Amino acid sequence: MRMIERLRNQGIGDEIVLSVMGSVPRHLFIEEALASRAYEDVALPINYGQTISSPWIVARMSELLRANGSLDKVLEIGTGCGYQTAILAQLARQVYSIERIGPLLTRTRIRLHKLQIRNIHLKHADGLRGLPEVSPFDGIIMTAVTTHIPNALLEQLAIGGRIVFPKGVQKQNLCVIERNVQGYIENVLEEVNFVPMLSGVIKS
Ligand code: SAH
Repeated sequence: MRMIERLRNQGIGDEIVLSVMGSVPRHLFIEEALASRAYEDVALPINYGQTISSPWIVARMSELLRANGSLDKVLEIGTGCGYQTAILAQLARQVYSIERIGPLLTRTRIRLHKLQIRNIHLKHADGLRGLPEVSPFDGIIMTAVTTHIPNALLEQLAIGGRIVFPKGVQKQNLCVIERNVQGYIENVLEEVNFVPMLSGVIKS
């Protein structure tokens, strides 16, 4: 509850996002040794050199993705420990999430199964190709930083849909790309700090 109050004070205004975040036990997504820090507003290590995004980032990206109201199909690139995925599962009808590190995804699969979240579909692949067979998505969220969105992914966005992602190289900013009938509109927002988007998959 203190985490939710802090997020509200930090400017998160979407009460639905706040209530969903209040209902997902964040400590179950990180190692026991770090569990006491689960509700602090920090990114924490989750193995394989990756990090679980801070509560503020998860809340901010979720409210940006939801800006047009409820979501039908969402694609997440960079499943990691699955915390953002679990939040999205309550904000969208179906969530598809892609992770390139096989062993990390295996652990996340078990964790999400234990939590009995049924509307999540996990895939071990290079996420930058998206999931053309399931598209169009009304929301796409990327949890690793990249310099640009490949065309293959832009094409998988529904008209009226949006992509939320960290953009940059050294200096990174949250970025929202909206698709309308005329084309794509990009908005650059606050500065952030993410691990890089990498290509290819890691099997074991
Ligand atoms: N939302 C996650 C963030 C994990 S960090 C969490 O809070 O746990 C970013 C994740 O993106 C890492 O797990 C990394 O392996 C993954 N990633 C990086 N490049 C990727 C790509 N091209 N395709 C799929 N996943 C990728």
